[in-house]
Amino acid sequence: MATSPHRITDAPEPYNSPKSDIILRSSDGVDFRFFKLLLSLASPFFSGMFDLPVAKDPAWEASSSEMEMKDGMVVVAVDENSQVLTALLGFVHPWKVPTFETLESSRVILQAADKYGMDDVTEAVEEALITSKFLDRRPSAVYALACTYKLEKAARAAAKLTLQHPMLFPFSPEVDHAPAAALYRLFAYRQACMKKVVEVTHILALRDAYVACKACPTATTLLSSVSVYQWLWDSVHHLTSRIQEVGFGGDVMQHVTVSWPVLANAMQCPTCKTKAMEIFSRFVQEVKRDIELEIRKVALEIKF
Ligand SMILES: [Zn+2]
Repeated sequence: MATSPHRITDAPEPYNSPKSDIILRSSDGVDFRFFKLLLSLASPFFSGMFDLPVAKDPAWEASSSEMEMKDGMVVVAVDENSQVLTALLGFVHPWKVPTFETLESSRVILQAADKYGMDDVTEAVEEALITSKFLDRRPSAVYALACTYKLEKAARAAAKLTLQHPMLFPFSPEVDHAPAAALYRLFAYRQACMKKVVEVTHILALRDAYVACKACPTATTLLSSVSVYQWLWDSVHHLTSRIQEVGFGGDVMQHVTVSWPVLANAMQCPTCKTKAMEIFSRFVQEVKRDIELEIRKVALEIKF
């Protein structure tokens, strides 16, 4: 608990209710009028504090003599600043819609919730994270945050979405705080998923392995020892290289353009002219579905 050198001000609604019975003073000197019952239900830390037998406990008696009172209420000074306290109490107050504006603010709420043992707040923040814009926009940061505060559901949802980004995802303060083992497991998961992408695309390309053109060169695959159109094999390699480089965004079409130069060559061949587009179109339609199916089978190891 901290003491504050700041000029004391009062928090705005809903933290100024005349029916309140406790005041939480933030580290920057803002008094939040709140309710012991709500804090006790949300936090074993506060529950224990309010349950202390005032008259019988010498420690409490000693400290209570130094404890500040205001409007007949005990003032409890906390370490969190008013911004954090506003966000944290938003998850405890029954009439507030819990929310956070930035990922950083969700992190400080989780940190405070962990400190005060507010499990329901932690659970509510996890649900809010899963439906937030941050999951799509900054999945690696959400994964790191989820692993730091042991939020398995959010970690799994975020890990899958990191596949939409390059292997070396953007650095963030959340990544800085995450356990190294959790980041290692994410890399292992992403590597396994990318391996599946390559396997799926090769299997689909080999499905059209009959070569009925004497003009176009053929490729012989090392694994299956069958011949396949060189232009098809090359276009598949262009596509998988692109996905491995920038991530698999769930929409293969955005990466298909990398195969156009190879396909354009095939279109010059009188025999392959119509066949090339037909085979490649079928490949593109099926590859997205097959990649999605295979990635679902890849296990992400999570240990807290
Ligand atoms: Zn040909």
